[in-house]
Amino acid sequence: MSETPRSPKEARRLERLKHGSRATRDVRPRSASSPRRRAPPLPPSLEKIAAATSDEPTVVLSRRAVARLDQGHVWIYRSDVAVPHSVTGGQVVRLSDERGWFAGKAFYGSQSQIAVRLLTREDEPIDEDFFARRISEAIALRDAVRPDPERRRAARLVHGEADLLPGLVVDRYSDCLSVQTLIEATDARREMFADLLQRLAKPRAIVERNDVRSRAHEELPQRKGMLRGQDPGPVEFLEGDVKLVADLLGGQKTGAFLDQAENRIEAGRYARGRALDCFTYGGAFALQLAREAERVIAVDISESAAAQGREAAGRNGIRNVEFKVANAFDLLRAESEAGERYDTVVLDPPAFAKSKDTLDAALRGYKEINLRAFHLLSPGGVLVTCSCSFQVDDATFERTVLQAAADAKRTVQVIERRGAAKDHPSLLGVPETRYLKCLILRVP
Ligand code: SAH
Repeated sequence: MSETPRSPKEARRLERLKHGSRATRDVRPRSASSPRRRAPPLPPSLEKIAAATSDEPTVVLSRRAVARLDQGHVWIYRSDVAVPHSVTGGQVVRLSDERGWFAGKAFYGSQSQIAVRLLTREDEPIDEDFFARRISEAIALRDAVRPDPERRRAARLVHGEADLLPGLVVDRYSDCLSVQTLIEATDARREMFADLLQRLAKPRAIVERNDVRSRAHEELPQRKGMLRGQDPGPVEFLEGDVKLVADLLGGQKTGAFLDQAENRIEAGRYARGRALDCFTYGGAFALQLAREAERVIAVDISESAAAQGREAAGRNGIRNVEFKVANAFDLLRAESEAGERYDTVVLDPPAFAKSKDTLDAALRGYKEINLRAFHLLSPGGVLVTCSCSFQVDDATFERTVLQAAADAKRTVQVIERRGAAKDHPSLLGVPETRYLKCLILRVP
């Protein structure tokens, strides 16, 4: 049977009939026997797309983008999408491939190079209930991996894309929350998120810490303030047995580096003798080391970080940590040239590689500090060495540390290969979410 279409609409209807009903079409059957077609030229076009099955506007993905989603990624770049003019930044959009098959729903960004951030691979409504479910699931994960019934500790409750809530970060410090809405879509919905978080996590206060540089990529203003409740002032929380404080609204930083929490506690278990904590910030590693080591030197280039560290030591009645304001590169060199010896060394520098262009310089930096550390370590000494640059993957980091060890003529035992704390999950298909490396090494 053949019919000749009388209009483009009619042609589309016939095309749909050929491929089955809309309901079955959206299931995207993929038969192993169907021949692989060559990728069409980019960018994808909107022309072939029939009316969507829901109200959201449809964004069409290139084949490359569809393959990327199939491989588990959740970000699609602007060069791989065709977007109707009517779509505005922050909207929820329906994704389809070039033949009209449903591919998911996503937040659309009008400013960032990442045009699309996947929310779901299912054809489901994206409403308040959807976000409530996602937040509940994120909280349930934390309750499972790091239960804190007394609410005295800190935890990341929502870790952006890794919790399938792109552009939303929520940290809990004791009974207060600190929230970041980092993209157009979450920023536009921050009142809704505040309501949901108030209902689901029942905090005493919710602080907004949207004074972070990454928002500039989204053309979003720098902003901080209260979303719910009163300014809680400095909030005390526990890390292991160490008391720490975060000033959620007044502090310079958005909080503590919670991704390192478990590594700090673990590092404390290995500490002994003379210990050196480089890039100490508020002394969170140093204070864990101090419980087992005889003496700890904690170094940071920032005077206010050192002051914060001294205060934290005082609060914990810890007297064997000396906070020094110095450039860690200079201090490491001076100590190793002076022939000093340490039994425990921690290196937790800021991200040296912020982009691909700075990768070589970053690797030289990592090698330099690790080389000095290997020179300083006494026989049997332990090195806890970290990198939070996502540009530097595990293999590259390990190779760099190995080069440093080789130059220092030290053999290295690996005790633990660690990453971010369990409340900072990563997505298997999204390498960008796995940025923190922490090696616990011993030099015989
Ligand atoms: N170890 C900390 C986090 C470190 S963040 C913790 O677990 O909480 C990185 C710190 O490195 C910042 O406090 C910054 O002030 C410091 N820093 C950056 N460059 C430095 C340098 N060249 N020498 C010493 N400290 C430096």
